[in-house]
Amino acid sequence: MDKISIIVPCYNEEKVLSAFYRETTAAVKDITDAECEFIFVDDGSRDRTLEILHSLSLADERCKYISFSRNFGKEAAMYAGLQNASGDYCVFMDADLQHPPKLLKEMYNVVKNEGYDCCAGLREDREGEGHMRNFLSHAFYKIIGRLCRLDMTDGAGDFRMMNRTMADSILELKEYNRYMKGIFSFVGFDTKWIPFHNVERAAGETKWTFRSLFRYALDGILSFSSAPATLAGTAGFFLIAAAFIIGIATLLIRHSLPGLTLVICLLFFLSGIQMFFIAILGQYIARDYMESKKRPIYIIKKKGGF
Ligand code: UDP
Ligand code: MG
Repeated sequence: MDKISIIVPCYNEEKVLSAFYRETTAAVKDITDAECEFIFVDDGSRDRTLEILHSLSLADERCKYISFSRNFGKEAAMYAGLQNASGDYCVFMDADLQHPPKLLKEMYNVVKNEGYDCCAGLREDREGEGHMRNFLSHAFYKIIGRLCRLDMTDGAGDFRMMNRTMADSILELKEYNRYMKGIFSFVGFDTKWIPFHNVERAAGETKWTFRSLFRYALDGILSFSSAPATLAGTAGFFLIAAAFIIGIATLLIRHSLPGLTLVICLLFFLSGIQMFFIAILGQYIARDYMESKKRPIYIIKKKGGF
């Protein structure tokens, strides 16, 4: 019999965990030809999340958990879950019931019988999210799609079920700055998209702030694209060329160099541009620095139910 590993990153989710467990176990009852296991990853929660996970693991042997020593972020939690999953198929689900458990059966059917490696939920709308966040998300996916030449579908979340081959290839990418949507797209494989309606989280609140979303977007672009660095080079080239042309042209026309004010303006403008691009390069160097440290992506404090 097949085994499905349901990987659930949890950060301060005490309010929804029991509802999540109830609804998801009810949904997997319909899948008669596979058994399942839950790999909950407590990402350094400061509420009763770990306590709840511990009692779930005592009550139901399918429930396993990993608890981080601090908050390492959802991407690290997903990676840890995947590393500890033993299923023939693995699926990532948010704890807040924004990923409808009733889709699991359909997803399993797709990866099992339709020849796809992966079946992913595609959010059709963004109901329950602010207009501003909505607009920024769309803009971000447009930009990242262009820059990274990877197919990163707008509305694609982390809710997806994949077979062992794809799961193993994701595990092969051991980088520290993990941008999961980029990683999914990077490893390739055949994915079938099934649309679903966005719902508000069942309880608790979102862990994202504008600041963390901005950082996440930057991570996505910088870990999968060197286009900003190329842009710096191109812009630099044009600036140097422009400086030569202006200098020579002015000399030819006026037979003298322009006034001090113009020089100062030019100096300010150019050094401003340079600083901006140095900042882009700095971002890459910072990331390279992190990668070269080969730090663990997460640190496990406790494990149970295995
Ligand atoms: N999450 C996590 N670590 C974090 C932030 C979030 O494990 O640092 C988990 C969270 O518990 C939830 C999922 O990631 O299960 C999605 O988080 P959230 O609902 O806050 O994101 P949104 O749905 O608003 O994008
Ligand atoms: Mg959510």
